[in-house]
Amino acid sequence: MTRQLHSRLFLFLVLGGLFFLLMGCRTAEPPLPTRMATAVSVQTFTPRPTATFTLTPTVTPTAVPSSTPVIQRPSATPRPTDTPPATATTAANAITQTVGLSSQARPIVDYQFKNGPRHVVFVGGMHGGYEWNTISLAYEAIDYFQANLDQIPDSLTLHIIPSANPDGQFLVTGSDGRFALTAVISDTVAGRFNGNNVDLNRNWDCNWQANGLWRDQWVSGGERPFSEPENVALRDYLLALQPEAVIFWHSALNGVFAAGCPQTYQPAYDLAEVYGLAGGYPIYEAFTSYPVTGDASDWLVAQGITSMTVELTTHSATDWRQNLAGMLATLAYYDRAAIPGK
Ligand SMILES: [Zn+2]
Repeated sequence: MTRQLHSRLFLFLVLGGLFFLLMGCRTAEPPLPTRMATAVSVQTFTPRPTATFTLTPTVTPTAVPSSTPVIQRPSATPRPTDTPPATATTAANAITQTVGLSSQARPIVDYQFKNGPRHVVFVGGMHGGYEWNTISLAYEAIDYFQANLDQIPDSLTLHIIPSANPDGQFLVTGSDGRFALTAVISDTVAGRFNGNNVDLNRNWDCNWQANGLWRDQWVSGGERPFSEPENVALRDYLLALQPEAVIFWHSALNGVFAAGCPQTYQPAYDLAEVYGLAGGYPIYEAFTSYPVTGDASDWLVAQGITSMTVELTTHSATDWRQNLAGMLATLAYYDRAAIPGK
């Protein structure tokens, strides 16, 4: 009788133990890694446009039609001469300043070199980890100018903002700062968007639409123009700075594209020509493969700030020699503009 009772008790304990073990496994299941947690809501756009882009560069400077529309800088635009105060010093030859925070509170950082009165700004990573090579390029440029400060004219301050979308960068590289190439995951598409799943280069206030196009897909342009904290921060920073030019690095269409809202801004085309000829990129008056709404460079030229986009040739290479040549030509161009007769 006692033995029978013991074996029943034993069976009960074993079954009970198994039950708790199974339940424990369920609750102890690890959460999805952060970089997997964000679902991308891109809808298929039908009918599909042709898969290949029909880009026709304006081959040489002389090919620019004389009727290229010119939008003058509004005379009312204030041009403050003060540089915003720096908040931190890191490396020997650069000052860093936080532009603002992403939707997931990651910092957007500006590296500044020299302290001339005119400002030229380069911005990488607006499409985050999807275009991580533009962030790599920015860090390559930061390292180069750290070591070669004398190649920046005294009339200028050079700004390099490596990552305008640190949330999207984090999804793909596991970092919002410098990252190792081995950290880059293979499926980079989700990293195009910020923490709110918005395409930051469809969220600026030029031709803004809630649904923007990216190739043959719809992407979110945000709830309204400048709904995203990254863009509010960058907009306010650039408006206060009033730079001579803002150059955005994207990938990978192989070309330089002048901005315009709605038509090509002549100073932007002139700059695209300077950069494209020096760097060996095809030069375009505008991006015309499909309608782009809410573009950052287009909005900037509508404020009278010259802006253009460089599209690297691939999604992995930084085209370093090409972009160093383009950057140096850009700096020389604005140095000449700063000093009459030079
Ligand atoms: Zn891009």
